Amino acid sequence: MAKKTSRTKPAVKKAAPKKVAKKASKPAGKKWVYLFEEVGKVEKYAGSWEGVRSLLGGKGSGLADMTRAGVPVPPGFTVTTEACNEFRKTGKFPKGMWEQELAALKIVEKQTGKGFGNPKNPLLVSCRSGAKFSMPGMMNTILNIGLTDEVVQGMITLTKNPRFVWDSYRRLIEMFGTTVFNLDDEVFEHPMAEFKKKKGYKLDTEMTANDWKALVSNFKQVFKKQVGFDFPQDVYRQLELATKAVFESWMGKRAIDYRKATGISDSLGTAVNIVTMVFGNMGDDSGTGVAFTRNPSTGDKKMMGDYLLNAQGEDVVAGIRNTSPVEEMSRTMPKVYRQFMGITGKLEKHYQDMQDVEFTIERGKLWMLQTRNGKRTAKSAIKIAVDMAKEKLITKEEAVLRVTTENVDTLLHPQFDDRSKKEAEKAGAFFAKGVNASPGAAVGRAYFDADTAEKKAKDEKQDTIMVRPFTKPDDVHGMIASKGVLTSEGGATSHAAVVARQFGIPCVVGASAIKIDMDRRVMAVGDVTIKEGDWISVDGTTGEVFVGKIPTSAPSLEEQTDLLTLLQWADEICARKGMRSAPKGWPTTGLQVWANADYPKDARRARSYGAKGIGLCRTEHMFFEPERLPIVQRMILAGSSDVRTTALNELLPSQRSDFDGLFEAMDGYPVIIRLIDPPLHEFMPDEEALLEEVITMHVKGETEGLADKEKLLAAIKNLHESNPMMGLRGVRLSIAMPEIVEMQVRAIFEAACDCALRGITVRPEVMIPLTGTVKELEWIQPRLERIAATVLAEKGVKRLDYKFGTMIEIPRAAVTAAEIAERAEFFSFGTNDLTQMTFGYSRDDAERNFLVTYVEQGILPKNPFQTLDRTGVGKLMKMAIADGRGTRPSLEVGICGEHGGDPESIEWCHLIGNNYVSCSPFRVPIARLAAAHVALKHGGKAMVEDK
Ligand code: PEP
Ligand code: MG
Repeated sequence: MAKKTSRTKPAVKKAAPKKVAKKASKPAGKKWVYLFEEVGKVEKYAGSWEGVRSLLGGKGSGLADMTRAGVPVPPGFTVTTEACNEFRKTGKFPKGMWEQELAALKIVEKQTGKGFGNPKNPLLVSCRSGAKFSMPGMMNTILNIGLTDEVVQGMITLTKNPRFVWDSYRRLIEMFGTTVFNLDDEVFEHPMAEFKKKKGYKLDTEMTANDWKALVSNFKQVFKKQVGFDFPQDVYRQLELATKAVFESWMGKRAIDYRKATGISDSLGTAVNIVTMVFGNMGDDSGTGVAFTRNPSTGDKKMMGDYLLNAQGEDVVAGIRNTSPVEEMSRTMPKVYRQFMGITGKLEKHYQDMQDVEFTIERGKLWMLQTRNGKRTAKSAIKIAVDMAKEKLITKEEAVLRVTTENVDTLLHPQFDDRSKKEAEKAGAFFAKGVNASPGAAVGRAYFDADTAEKKAKDEKQDTIMVRPFTKPDDVHGMIASKGVLTSEGGATSHAAVVARQFGIPCVVGASAIKIDMDRRVMAVGDVTIKEGDWISVDGTTGEVFVGKIPTSAPSLEEQTDLLTLLQWADEICARKGMRSAPKGWPTTGLQVWANADYPKDARRARSYGAKGIGLCRTEHMFFEPERLPIVQRMILAGSSDVRTTALNELLPSQRSDFDGLFEAMDGYPVIIRLIDPPLHEFMPDEEALLEEVITMHVKGETEGLADKEKLLAAIKNLHESNPMMGLRGVRLSIAMPEIVEMQVRAIFEAACDCALRGITVRPEVMIPLTGTVKELEWIQPRLERIAATVLAEKGVKRLDYKFGTMIEIPRAAVTAAEIAERAEFFSFGTNDLTQMTFGYSRDDAERNFLVTYVEQGILPKNPFQTLDRTGVGKLMKMAIADGRGTRPSLEVGICGEHGGDPESIEWCHLIGNNYVSCSPFRVPIARLAAAHVALKHGGKAMVEDK
């Protein structure tokens, strides 16, 4: 049995390598290792393909699946994630694992006809990480394992290609040093750069066999000096250390940061894939490449990839050497190209998704080294989903499920508008152009390394753009913290491009005109120089970079035709009857999406974004218009009801025209208008400023207008409340001063009747805010209903479809919903206030004062003002709906707090039986998709149990 060291990496660094046994003893107990062709066994054990992916990781399951499908995959095997998780607990390989690895290796030797460590006919292998969810570049890979001084000689005899063999050996030593023993890249890169400089070489391709040989001996010295012992000449020891290094890389900082950013669980672990090496660097009939079966930036149905002749894998991804587009292979290697296109076409059909493949051509023979669902931009995700549904590769439902609400959010993010860009160009702000790797507009200060970019963004809340010659996995934290990424080297498949696309960060790569001077911390194109910390604008959609800040604007939804198609499918799904099974009278379709809109222009935008109604019009916003505010103040200051009514009569025409515009914009759809809600002092001038003014006038002896100002000051003082949120507002204000809401209701119904008479279908719903007891409704609602009836009679309108209802935003209202529903014909959950009052947290101060700490400390799972607290606030809502519909089965229920646009909260609203959610017009597309997602997820299931 092989001996293993249980030490962690630093301890291993200084320890001399131990000899390990080469013979495999009888494998025992649990199966930790599976050959690629054993995928059937894995399926049996894991129970599902999902289970296979968990056990073998994405890469391992892909290789196994391709092997089964007859795709040319180099022989190999996978050590399972279960083994990794055992290793993480004890720091040792689990019992039997190493023996199984050796036994599998024996079979691979048979399959390839080569021997591991046999100089006459050597088998070399790679050791690659592969977790269930891909984490590109975040964990370790070691290539060319099995090369030793002796094997090198044998391989040279065999291949007659000493240049290739020495190059492979130096790569192994370098990778071993950097990944297994955590040495800095620099310790190898520096001597190599010096060597090339001395020889006058620019490119690696200029290095001869003897050059590589000399470098190998240099690298071996570096290795010994840094690690403390010679580079291991025992091939099994190499394999053992490499396997361990991959396991350990699961808990490396890079990998942990990445998992945090992507929400991948730490408990999954990584598998280790041991794969026979095939070589793309064996001459000009060899090569290696990466490709996407569709364009990951735009979604176009066209293969997009890069390859390099006479090169090894990492050369392509690092973006260090200039690659050629894959279609060029149709000229250089037409037969291989045809085979490649055939295989990738089949893979896409098989996985029903865009594939990201890695391949190598060894002396004219094609090998597939990886296939996985490709990472893509939001635009591409939507286009691919819609195209694949149209191609009948997937269903519409699947297409809707594949696009995330974050994708939609990203797509609707600001872009640079053409006009501002043209102006910037005219003003000479154009700086450089590169490859448009990840779309979107980013404006920020340029920083030249990941740590600074992250620090400036996090500590100083700056908008940052990370600028580098090229990026490496160690840079990801800086990229995630930045608004945009810019590199001067690399192409569309470079590390920077892949990572930026995945996180939706606008990115331009390969802007080769830019010279970055890391010592002086500046970058320049010609004589234009940008210092670190200067503002730049990066257009990831076009690849342009500008000096300074360029204004951005929201993109138009109408131009996003694929998104429109997808959202239409989402609406169709939600509109299906039977999506929810529920008691009689409750909705059986999915949720509708309405919008919060105060003005006709917002309502028009909401409608164009797909809203099916207005769930909240905050009428008080209309009082703040500059020409109306003085009348509102006069009304508030009025000493008698008559004076107040006179002022209100002045306001009526403008309120009526506001409502008229809303009804017209929402022709055919319901419009919920909320009566005045905030405390009156909000409409008055600032008390402190006014006091200062009055004092100054006294000091200066000015008298003109002083008496009026003093009167106003006294009135403001009079309106002062210690706790205005719980004071004279909402329905309480309506009861204290009914004239205001009486005017509002008259304006609503006059506008509604006028519209109806013009042929518009109007469905007004009058919403009374902040109800705490049904008695409040009993007091106010009949008065308002009488006004509605009077206006209808005055206008000669016989039938109008209208409702009176209330907001549920005080816990008592939720608890007494059965009584409240006797009066209210609809409920709308005002979850901003309901959250404030249920938790007793001030909605204006909590985030600033303690909520962030609460979330960080795990006292609360999320900010309850953003994501509905299901166990508390959500439970009140659920109870209120059930009790309310107990009284009035047809009760219409919605939500109009900020949670109405949050996907997790939308799920809760679906589960408890809301008819609709209402959110800001800009979030309507997101909410439509979220509503379809939950309808599909819970389709046809009964109302939820508490969670
Ligand atoms: C609410 O409280 O959730 C609500 C929509 O009303 P406002 O935010 O205007 O108080
Ligand atoms: Mg409220």
